[in-house]
Amino acid sequence: MKKIRLFTPGPTMVPDDVLLEMARPIEHHRTGMYREMAKELHELLQYLFQTKAMCLTFTGSGTSAAEAAIVGCTPAGHKALVVRNGKFAERWAKVCETFGIDHQTLDIEWGFGATGDDVRKAMEADAKIDTIIVVHSETSTTALSDVEAIAKVTREKGAILIVDGITSVGALPVKMDEWGVDVYLTGSQKALMLPPGLAFAAVNDRAWERIDSGKTPTLYNDLKAYRKSMDTFDAPYTPAVSLVRGALCVLRKIKERGVESIWAETTLLANATRSATRALGMKVFATHPVDSVTAMVVPEGVDEGALRKTMRAKFGFQIAGGQGDLKGKIIRFSHMGFVDAFDTIGAIAALEMALEGQGYAFSRSAGVAAAHAVLMDAKN
Ligand SMILES: *Cc1c(COP(=O)(O)O)cnc(C)c1O
Repeated sequence: MKKIRLFTPGPTMVPDDVLLEMARPIEHHRTGMYREMAKELHELLQYLFQTKAMCLTFTGSGTSAAEAAIVGCTPAGHKALVVRNGKFAERWAKVCETFGIDHQTLDIEWGFGATGDDVRKAMEADAKIDTIIVVHSETSTTALSDVEAIAKVTREKGAILIVDGITSVGALPVKMDEWGVDVYLTGSQKALMLPPGLAFAAVNDRAWERIDSGKTPTLYNDLKAYRKSMDTFDAPYTPAVSLVRGALCVLRKIKERGVESIWAETTLLANATRSATRALGMKVFATHPVDSVTAMVVPEGVDEGALRKTMRAKFGFQIAGGQGDLKGKIIRFSHMGFVDAFDTIGAIAALEMALEGQGYAFSRSAGVAAAHAVLMDAKN
């Protein structure tokens, strides 16, 4: 039997005690018991997002919360700017297109993140823009955008800022209220080390004012319906009770440990992996790399598909390839959730074995040693 270790940037590995918690008998959701759970979940989500804003839980993948936020925050008469620097950002432009939302894209080369100045320039070029949609950690290219700086600009200009934090919340520093982000989103299957199936949106009062000013052309993803049921810690439709149970279990652990300590560990694993990449004579893909996932450029002469296949079939490490234009060109390793230093060293060891199998020339064990050195330096 092969031991599979998920190194994909979603879904990620789920701790055993969380899996067991989710195996408990189903509670009916119209009960005091469920409301207690929903109330605690709300408080823990506020901690996670570092906010006093209302935090909503959706039964759906991350895209459900993103669609709800985009559609809710851009009623007729408003115009969105989608910062487009990867596959997920492309999806948010597609949401605008699908719902007929007036929007424009700010195209940024893949591998780069957006700065406050990028957003400022785009807003100054078109005074109609009053809603900014940005991906904090663009998982497809592993690029980081400067959300704190972008929020300064949107605050100054009175615009609404929606941030896709699907691979940042719970992995990278996220300070919703301090920075002034209006809607922050995440999903269950990435840094939150849960199975896929839940999405979360923290929505502040400025965003609610905008949402209340118009009609939302959706039923299942209507933020107003979710807000209304939060009066009694209910859900508008049947919630994924088992996943909510799992979420409580994970978020209690995160709070107990302190989210800052998780941010620091994520950075450490990213540093170790980047150091290993260079020691193997390879390149880190992103110019502005995130710490939640690392992309390595596949060296010339190495077959990316075969490499990933060997990693999984022979060594049990499931890593991700590239998406869109990056297909076949990069491989990605997650540093989110239930993954530690020794899993990471193992992944690098397996990578070296797979690379050697393809005849790639490098100094044997150099990657493992480089990663190990980073980890040892940090611990001592
Ligand atoms: C995974 C991911 C999404 C998509 O989420 P789903 O849960 O698949 O709907 C969106 N944005 C980013 C940055 C992601 O990493």
